[in-house]
Amino acid sequence: MQSLKELYKIGNGPSSSHTMGPKRATELFRNKYKNADKFKIILYGSLAMTGKGHLTDYIIKKTLDGYEVEIKFDTKTECKVHPNTFDIFAYKEGKLLDTWRIYSIGGGSFKIAEEKETIIKNIYPQKNFNEIKEYIKENNLDLYDYVCLMEGKEEITEFLKQVWDTMKSAIKNGLTTTGIIPGRLKLQRRAKNIYENKLDFETEDIKKTRLLSSYAYATSEENASGGVIVTAPTCGACGVLPAVLYYMKEEYNMKEEKIVKALAIAGIIGNVVKTNASISGAECGCQAEIGTACSMAASACAYLFDLDIDKIENSAEVAMEHHLGLTCDPIYGYVQIPCIERNAIAAMRAFDSSTLSLILEKNKKISFDLVVDTMYETGKDLSKHYRETSEGVLAKKYCRNKYYNKEMEEKIDRDNSR
Ligand code: SF4
Repeated sequence: MQSLKELYKIGNGPSSSHTMGPKRATELFRNKYKNADKFKIILYGSLAMTGKGHLTDYIIKKTLDGYEVEIKFDTKTECKVHPNTFDIFAYKEGKLLDTWRIYSIGGGSFKIAEEKETIIKNIYPQKNFNEIKEYIKENNLDLYDYVCLMEGKEEITEFLKQVWDTMKSAIKNGLTTTGIIPGRLKLQRRAKNIYENKLDFETEDIKKTRLLSSYAYATSEENASGGVIVTAPTCGACGVLPAVLYYMKEEYNMKEEKIVKALAIAGIIGNVVKTNASISGAECGCQAEIGTACSMAASACAYLFDLDIDKIENSAEVAMEHHLGLTCDPIYGYVQIPCIERNAIAAMRAFDSSTLSLILEKNKKISFDLVVDTMYETGKDLSKHYRETSEGVLAKKYCRNKYYNKEMEEKIDRDNSR
């Protein structure tokens, strides 16, 4: 498994696979062919189908500022290796200098086709959660010690502090900003309103829903508006983990130092999914993004409640198991509906998964590795309509139901003008 630095990436939203990954790959290619005078890009699969809504073309043009750039959207060619594929070509005076085929594999990471060696090294020898658990038990470590041992204590702690600071800033910005999220849906930001609107009859349960949701909305709305967030594990699912950590800080007075450690635990869970399955909505549906984010948040929450490694594993497993089969269906390709609300629901589910593990007895029959494997197989079986193409389910229904669509958009316009 790779470093947690490859999982948590600090950058601008709205999409890790459609903006961050293509941006990073384009930068690498541009730096190699600085002497080129023209670049051509052909986007395939999900990048071609939802690239406009996800701002893929915008970010590539911005990265290649100063050069002549041609971008094509090829929605017909089948992507046999990965649904987020693109080709990039560099030219000098009409002569082709080089071309790369890139796979944007999720969470801002990418692979170059036919590269034998991966550019990023694996620094964790263990390949799945079971191997990690055995190693930890044999060596009498806890999960945080294990991360420090593999990554270097000072270095990883410093990095995770930066991650946590960025998460807090995104929540704070989101809770104080109002207005419309960019894009055709003209969605009103809601985080501030949810946070401030305490109900007269508010019970402890409703308060929990209000706070967790407001924190998740805050980060997700920042992401949808192009603000700075942390992939956890992706941009689309970036609101779940910070919401749970912030809630634990505010409501359970968790110390900052312990929250930073909880980020390491969540990182291991995310890394196990990234290594053994996928964190890409285009590859395996939303279960790979929101499901993974929910598992990460549940494991962090379990750690903050001082649960042992078996219960941390249970929390992550429960969180993933009940997201199996979740489809990816962003309307018009924007990371807004259903993404923002989905982050809030997953934050609540993460908290509940860890508290359920608290009261459940040990010796559960389903391991985290098993549920990860199941998620991957389910994702591979999902029709492409349900994997970030905006061709299925909610996205299709919304866009095809013209009457409802028009009525609803007019209502949004009226609400926004008040
Ligand atoms: S539906 Fe889920 S996987 Fe798809 S873009 Fe939204 S958050 Fe990402």
